[in-house]
Amino acid sequence: MPRRTVWHPFTQHALEDNVPTITRGKGAWLETDDNRRIFDAISSWWVITHGHRHPAIVAAVKDQIDKLDQVIFAGFTHESAEKLAEKLVAITPVGLEHVFFSDSGSTSVEVAIKMALGYWRNIGHPRSRIAALEHGYHGDTIGTMSAGARGVFNAAYEPLLFDVIRIPFPHAGREQETFDALEAACRETPVAAFIAEPLIAGAGGMLMYSSAALAEMKRICERYGALFIADEVMTGWGRTGTTFACNQAGVTPDILCTAKGLTGGSMPLAATLATSRIYDAHYSEDRARTLFHSSSFTANPVCCAAALANLEIWENEPVLDRIAKVSEMQEQNLTALVESSSRFLNPRRIGTITAVDLDVADGGYLAAAGPALRAHFLAQGILLRPLGNTIYVMPPYCATGPDLSLVYEAIRSIP
Ligand SMILES: *Cc1c(COP(=O)(O)O)cnc(C)c1O
Repeated sequence: MPRRTVWHPFTQHALEDNVPTITRGKGAWLETDDNRRIFDAISSWWVITHGHRHPAIVAAVKDQIDKLDQVIFAGFTHESAEKLAEKLVAITPVGLEHVFFSDSGSTSVEVAIKMALGYWRNIGHPRSRIAALEHGYHGDTIGTMSAGARGVFNAAYEPLLFDVIRIPFPHAGREQETFDALEAACRETPVAAFIAEPLIAGAGGMLMYSSAALAEMKRICERYGALFIADEVMTGWGRTGTTFACNQAGVTPDILCTAKGLTGGSMPLAATLATSRIYDAHYSEDRARTLFHSSSFTANPVCCAAALANLEIWENEPVLDRIAKVSEMQEQNLTALVESSSRFLNPRRIGTITAVDLDVADGGYLAAAGPALRAHFLAQGILLRPLGNTIYVMPPYCATGPDLSLVYEAIRSIP
C-alpha cells in the first residue's frame, strides 16, 4: 500500500487503501470524485441529523461568517452563542440551566468531569472517584478513554488512564446486578460522578437498555449524592426517538453532554449543560473556584449560528414526525432482515437506530469481517461501518423508504 500524507482516524493504512474522495453531500447522499453516489447510512459517523446541507443551516453559516468569524469567548460574547444557550436550556431536560461550550464530544465530556470534580472541591468535600457504565464510549482523549471501555483501541495508552469504578451494563433481565453494583460502589467510596450513555451504548456495540433502568440508576446516584453525567453526544437530537434519551426516563442529569447533532452535524460544536447546583458551586468571588477550561474556538460564532439554525429547524419543522417515520421503516426492515436469514442475531432497535450481530466465528472489533463488510457495502453504494460483527443502521431523518430498502438489501446480500 502507498504511504499517505494524510493520516486518517481509526484507519490502518497498511490494510485499507480504498479511501473514496467525497466531493458533495446532499440530503442523505454523498457523491465521489468519480461520480458514484453513496447513501450515508451512518449519518457521517452519527452527526448528520436532517441531512447534508440543510438549506437553513447553510444560510445561517453564510450569514454569520459575513459578520463575525471568530472572537475570544473569555470576557466577550456574541449573539449566536447567547441565543443558542437560551434555546438549549429550553429544549433539554428541565433543570439544566447553564451552558458551557466546547468543540467536540470528547471535550464536552472532559468538561463534564472537570465540572464534577470542581463542584466537590468548591463545596469543601473533595471527591474524585468516577464510576462509569460498562461498554461506555466517551471520546478519545486520555480522560474520556479512562471513563470508556478498555480494549485494543486504548491498550497502548493504558498506563496513562485513570481508574474508574466499572458498573455492569443493565442488560435486559439483569438490571438488578447494575443497581446493586452502583449502590455498592457509592457506599464503598464517595463517588464524584457516574457517567453513562443513556439508553444505548453506541461505540460499545449498540447495546440497549430500558428507560426504567436509566431512571433507577439516576435515583441511586441521588441517594448517595453522586452526580449523574449523561453523555448524550450520540443519543441527543432525536436518534433514540425523543429529542434526548433522558426524556424517555423523565430524568434530568446533573450534567449533560451534547455534540454531534447539535449543529445538525454540519459544524464542530459541543456543549456541556449543568444544573444551577453545579454552576453555583463555581460562582464565587474566589478566583480559585473558576471552571478552568477553555479551547481556542470555544463557542465559535459560525458553529453557534449553525446550531441555532438547527434548533430553529426543530422548532419549525416536523422533526419528531420524521423521526417516528424513519423509526417505523427501520423496524419493518429489521424484522424482514431477521426473517430472511438466521445469521442475523440479536436484532434490536431504539428510535431511528437498528443493529444486528452477524453470526461470524471471530467476533469483536478486530473481526476480520470488518474491512470486507465495509468494502461489500461500498460496492453497493452504501456507507456502513460495522462495529466488529455488529451491523447497525443510523440514517439521517430525511432517509426515504427506497433508500432504506437499498441499505437492507446490501446487508441481506453479504456473501
Ligand atoms: C462520538 C462520541 C463521543 C466523542 O465525540 P467526538 O466529537 O468524536 O469527540 C463521546 N461520547 C459519545 C457517546 C459518542 O458517541
